[in-house]
Amino acid sequence: MLKISGLNVFYGHIHALKGISMEIKQGEIVSLIGSNGAGKSTTLGSIAGLVPSQSGSITFLGKDITNIPPHSIVKLGTSLSPEGREVFPALTVQENLRLGAYIKKDKAKISESFERVYSLFPRLKERTKQTAGTLSGGEQQMLAIGRALMSEPQLLMLDEPSLGLAPNLVLMIFELIESINRQGTTILLIEQNASMALSISHRAYVLETGSISMAGNSKDLADDPRVKKAYLGIR
Ligand code: ATP
Repeated sequence: MLKISGLNVFYGHIHALKGISMEIKQGEIVSLIGSNGAGKSTTLGSIAGLVPSQSGSITFLGKDITNIPPHSIVKLGTSLSPEGREVFPALTVQENLRLGAYIKKDKAKISESFERVYSLFPRLKERTKQTAGTLSGGEQQMLAIGRALMSEPQLLMLDEPSLGLAPNLVLMIFELIESINRQGTTILLIEQNASMALSISHRAYVLETGSISMAGNSKDLADDPRVKKAYLGIR
């Protein structure tokens, strides 16, 4: 579904992605783990068309999407829930969700998307008229994921969905990610919480200072002594 080949990204003289290659197949949950500053958000930004790349290529459903504008990439069927949620605090839950469907014109399709999001997140349905800034951290995270789902993406990219959430909410968010995947959405997940990410994903890539250092199925990676030591806090 998605293929990245030899991608290089520079921010001025900082070489943030050093020729990375990775692949995501339809129906998978793939996680990308790595320490702070490894280049995880940059990878998502490049796929979403928000961060320009200097060389290499990204193809999605057979089309070259390298450096095309973000709205064109959303139209092709990808969507990003950014780190830090970035919901619009003064807008209501419903208005935030509506913005996620900005590429759609068909009213019936938009209401179907609302239905899907509200059935996944009943907490949002109870709060349609509440402004996003007054939601709890967990609810804002649900809203950010819900907004990304409003364009009915085939590939949903989630940047640190568990960041700053209490343990019970972390569990809930991960269960929701699994249900979204079971409904047919392919997922690329970035997480600091490597142990949770590896437990729900099929495959994973480890990013270290801009390079992919390990890749494989998530269960094998979770058992790898190097991953255990560096990312799971197990010695
Ligand atoms: P974190 O989990 O802390 O967000 P990350 O793995 O997502 O880390 P990136 O945010 O992709 O890492 O950053 C990769 C590298 O690129 C870092 O060295 C970072 O300082 C640098 N970087 C990121 N964004 C910019 C920018 N807009 N301008 C300059 N350097 C940047």
